[in-house]
Amino acid sequence: MAYDFDLFVIGAGSGGVRAARFAAGFGAKVAVAESRYLGGTCVNVGCVPKKLLVYGAHVADELEQAAGFGWTLEEGHFDWGTLIANKNREIERLNGIYRNLLVNSGVTLLQGHARLTGANEVEVEGQRYTAEHILIATGGWPQVPDIPGKELAITSNEAFYLKDLPRRVLVVGGGYIAVEFAGIFQGLGSATTLLYRGDLFLRGFDGSVRTHLKEELEKRGLDLQFNADIQRIDKLEDGSLKATLKDGRELVTDCVFYATGRRPMLDNLGLENTGVELDARGYIRVDQQYQTTAPSILAIGDVIGRVQLTPVALAEGMAVARRLFKPEQYRPVDYQNIPTAVFSQPPIGTVGLTEEQALEAGHKVQVFESRFRAMKLTLTDIQEKTLMKLVVDAETDKVLGCHMVGPDAGEIIQGLGIALKAGATKQQFDETIGVHPTAAEEFVTMRTVTR
Ligand code: FAD
Ligand code: NDP
Repeated sequence: MAYDFDLFVIGAGSGGVRAARFAAGFGAKVAVAESRYLGGTCVNVGCVPKKLLVYGAHVADELEQAAGFGWTLEEGHFDWGTLIANKNREIERLNGIYRNLLVNSGVTLLQGHARLTGANEVEVEGQRYTAEHILIATGGWPQVPDIPGKELAITSNEAFYLKDLPRRVLVVGGGYIAVEFAGIFQGLGSATTLLYRGDLFLRGFDGSVRTHLKEELEKRGLDLQFNADIQRIDKLEDGSLKATLKDGRELVTDCVFYATGRRPMLDNLGLENTGVELDARGYIRVDQQYQTTAPSILAIGDVIGRVQLTPVALAEGMAVARRLFKPEQYRPVDYQNIPTAVFSQPPIGTVGLTEEQALEAGHKVQVFESRFRAMKLTLTDIQEKTLMKLVVDAETDKVLGCHMVGPDAGEIIQGLGIALKAGATKQQFDETIGVHPTAAEEFVTMRTVTR
């Protein structure tokens, strides 16, 4: 049967755009449907605008440090409207770049919501298209627990477009987004409280990292409240919000920001017209090659709920394009040792196993840990400490994990990701000449076993 397209991609986000562009480059006839914004979550309401706001918040640190270096500054003033307008302009520029990338690679771009009407058929704006392969790359959406007053809360989607910077903010959650936005709001001047339901935030990260970040955030005056959760939210007469906690306490604020995870975006996708099944967590079930339970339909990115990071969605998109249209270049995605950063203030960089994971996996573990005050702070009164940690297999000498909390952690951890992928040993770390004077050199000069 002749199809309209070789590949029909639903969603022009990180994964969908990558798969579409490369498939078209390999000679396939490709269409992409996008209902909301080109570039998806990462470009519009994720990584990119988030990082721009983090940079904005970080300026406060630079200003605080300036006096130690001899600079006398006038009283500073921050204008949220300017930051958001400038951010929006940059996002619009990126939307245009994504459009050009797709169109210039020969991809047919369809604007509108796509709905599956069969295993090889998609409907967009009343028009039906057939395709030999269909790729679902519809991403995710913020999830807010079903509590009374939840409609009064915002999520990351709305935070990027707030008209004014709230004077007081309650951030709920203890994952990437909660920690990053708590830092943004606090850095920009909001009185910020972070509420997390468990004992310590960032579950799954290395224990030393979690404790260290907690201490540093508290030093900065962030109000961290663990074992705390909201039962209901009410609007008060003066327009402010009252959050009643499960322990009965009442907190009054101007903004309640929920960052309690994301669900797969499957709304009105028409999965019932196909044989596509979901897994136990509600994400699209795929095999090792991203094939769903309907053989002509594949899925990648946040909608399969493996690792919700842009570079992972990109790698999965590339793998699909190659497997379908350039099989001789196909390589499976390596989910081991994925480096990642949390852009908190200070940021976290991490790759490989945490100490806890290494012990659980049965490794005999040697830990090298260092805490120090960064050189840049020595001319200031700021007492922030940087943490660096290596988790090493005592028997093979292989470095199993590298963890850092401190300035530029995300930049530093990328290179260590290559070292771990190459299987580097602690001895090779030790034999690597440091770059002096940097914080990063500490990763090659830690000699004393801490544990
Ligand atoms: P998405 O990028 O979400 O793209 C899905 C696209 O599909 C969307 O454009 C959507 O409009 C479209 N769509 C959905 N349904 C339909 C339909 N039926 N028809 C047509 N179109 C449809 N990751 C990092 O690596 N680093 C970071 O710093 C980082 N920061 C983040 C900050 C925030 C606040 C958030 C929310 C996420 C962040 N992420 C970060 C995660 C990253 O954004 C996602 O992992 C990534 O965008 C997933 O890509 P995707 O292709 O699966 O989906
Ligand atoms: P996460 O899954 O990282 O964190 C969700 C948090 O919300 C957890 O602390 C969880 O607690 C808590 N939580 C979940 N449900 C409830 C509930 N009902 N009530 C109270 N608390 C709850 O999700 P995020 O929303 O922070 O981010 C989504 C994903 O996006 C991340 O996992 C990451 O993959 C990606 N991302 C990446 C970034 C980066 O690379 N820098 C930045 C931002 C997002 P518990 O741990 O107890 O379950």
